[in-house]
Amino acid sequence: MYLKRLEIQGFKSFADKVAIEFQGGITGVVGPNGSGKSNISDAIRWVLGEQSAKSLRGSKMEDVIFSGTSKRRPLGFAEVTLVFDNKDGKLPIDYSEVSITRRLFRSGESEYYINKTSCRLKDIRELFMDTGVGKEGYSIIGQGRIDEILSSKSEDRRSIFEEAAGIVKYKTRKIEAEKK
Ligand code: ATP
Ligand code: MG
Repeated sequence: MYLKRLEIQGFKSFADKVAIEFQGGITGVVGPNGSGKSNISDAIRWVLGEQSAKSLRGSKMEDVIFSGTSKRRPLGFAEVTLVFDNKDGKLPIDYSEVSITRRLFRSGESEYYINKTSCRLKDIRELFMDTGVGKEGYSIIGQGRIDEILSSKSEDRRSIFEEAAGIVKYKTRKIEAEKK
């Protein structure tokens, strides 16, 4: 399973719809300061369910919507889609290609889709659980995160190993069952 394509429209500095294709292996993103490199990684975390505006470098969630320039009016919504190659079946869904979409309107209304079918954020979280992908997953390592992992309490560090071992699913189900 790997990230094959990212489609961004109306998210931060990406006003027009752009599609970025990824090959297997390593991709480097280069560009001048302020050209939108970090906005790309923000977009990826956002689709995977990031709910903290602060961690997306804004003060409220609406700040992710293109806010306009001197030449261009602000947009009414932001939409980001991730397309994963799932030929190896790592994602527990019967499709060789899986797309995840998040859309946010200025009204605050939010929509999530798996393969263009409307779903809940919970469904997206469950789909990626134990795969390492996800806003808390180890597939996204932000600046300073390695230090944070090394200096964190052993209980906090344990969650990373649990995700890698593939047992978060069962723990989550147990906690949910105990609530009922
Ligand atoms: P650096 O090399 O300094 O880390 P970068 O390439 O990572 O730069 P980003 O932080 O991704 O740059 O992009 C910052 C740019 O995105 C700024 O010019 C900022 O004005 C723009 N931006 C952020 N949010 C929005 C928004 N909602 N609407 C329009 N532009 C936005
Ligand atoms: Mg940056």
